[in-house]
Amino acid sequence: MDIIHLLPDSVANQIAAGEVIQRPASCLKELVENSLDAGASRIQVIVRDAGRTLLQVIDDGCGMSETDARMAFERHATSKISSAQDLFALRTMGFRGEALASICAVAQVEVQTRKKEDEIGTLLEIHGSEVIRQEPCQCPVGTNFKVKNLFFNVPVRRKFLKTDQTELRNLLTEFYHIVLVYPKVQFTFVHNDEILLELPSGTEKQRIEAVFGKSGGKSYTGQFVDVATDTELVSIRGFIGKPEAATKNAQQYFFVNGRYMRHPYFHKAIMTAYSGTLSGETNPSYFIYFDVAPETIDVNIHPTKTEIKFQDEQMIFQILMAAVRESLGKFNLTPSLDFNREGEIEMGIVTKRCLNRMWSLIRIIILLPVLRRQVCRGGRNYIPRSGKSFMRRSRRIRLRTLLLTRRLWKRILSDMTNILCFRPMRG
Ligand code: ADP
Ligand code: MG
Repeated sequence: MDIIHLLPDSVANQIAAGEVIQRPASCLKELVENSLDAGASRIQVIVRDAGRTLLQVIDDGCGMSETDARMAFERHATSKISSAQDLFALRTMGFRGEALASICAVAQVEVQTRKKEDEIGTLLEIHGSEVIRQEPCQCPVGTNFKVKNLFFNVPVRRKFLKTDQTELRNLLTEFYHIVLVYPKVQFTFVHNDEILLELPSGTEKQRIEAVFGKSGGKSYTGQFVDVATDTELVSIRGFIGKPEAATKNAQQYFFVNGRYMRHPYFHKAIMTAYSGTLSGETNPSYFIYFDVAPETIDVNIHPTKTEIKFQDEQMIFQILMAAVRESLGKFNLTPSLDFNREGEIEMGIVTKRCLNRMWSLIRIIILLPVLRRQVCRGGRNYIPRSGKSFMRRSRRIRLRTLLLTRRLWKRILSDMTNILCFRPMRG
């Protein structure tokens, strides 16, 4: 008897949901990203019980037609790409076409949506992948998405949710990742009828101030300096905190082409640029926005799209580090390498290591003639110590010793360039 069968869509969606929707925060991310892709200029997020009971996202974007509204909940249904080729020219936040299918598999979803050109909108209700009702409705242009009782049919998942306080923190973290890259879009975040964030449209710096600045207190962004560099490979803009403003819990954000990303390797570039300027266990805050050609990054290596692969990671590392260093130097925030002010130069690890290597080389140069004499004398059976063959042999030895020290020379040269160009040391 055959035992293999295809799983029903509702089960397949629930399995897929495990990857995409882990907690209310992932649901919020997907919904708000959809609103941004829909070209919204105003997005309201309304949350009840940290997203356990209700997660509502209202936008004034392009809305959906009646058929699209129904299609949107199918797995791999998307309006954003049509071929694998498009994966490498992405300018939208979503593209996998699985968020809505995943959400409706594990929650009770109600959506109202209307396109500008339509007079009447569509209301659609889906509980655990099952369409409960679909009917015309009166609603404003845009989409109003309600996700109620998340994980109502996956009790294990629901049980694993953390306290409301933790889940709310997760929601806000996810919200920051988005609002910091879309300063032109207005956002509101309401939790249990309390407005937690009201963000007007503005510049990136104003947005950072609005999110992290304390009302009435010192300017938060006053503690930052600008970073800007433009190369063929990448353009980098952003703000970095002054070393003296570094704290234990710093705000550290990377964004690429309008998307938040985690990048431990680029974080290392920043930390290297700051080395020697931070006291104790403090960390600098930074908000760095990368702009690269979409075909030089791969966004599709992780379901939540927060890990991104760059084609030229090492080059960008160098560019980023140099840019941060330059900004810190420009604002006199780090001792610059000025050879006319030797006494003021901070003896960093890099310089020390280079001096060590130079000292090894000097020792070898001093030892070279001694070495040669030793070797020449050492050949006990070798009688004539002058004349042509002696010269030939001594020349050979000198050459061999030079060859032996070649690696050392090379390292010293690369160290010197590293110091002058602020590049990191290998080994
Ligand atoms: P993806 O975003 O990867 O395309 P989703 O499952 O998140 O997949 O959404 C499916 C489709 O539904 C989107 O491609 C888009 O066309 C439509 N859609 C989703 N949310 C909205 C919205 N808020 N406004 C307009 N269209 C939307
Ligand atoms: Mg999406």
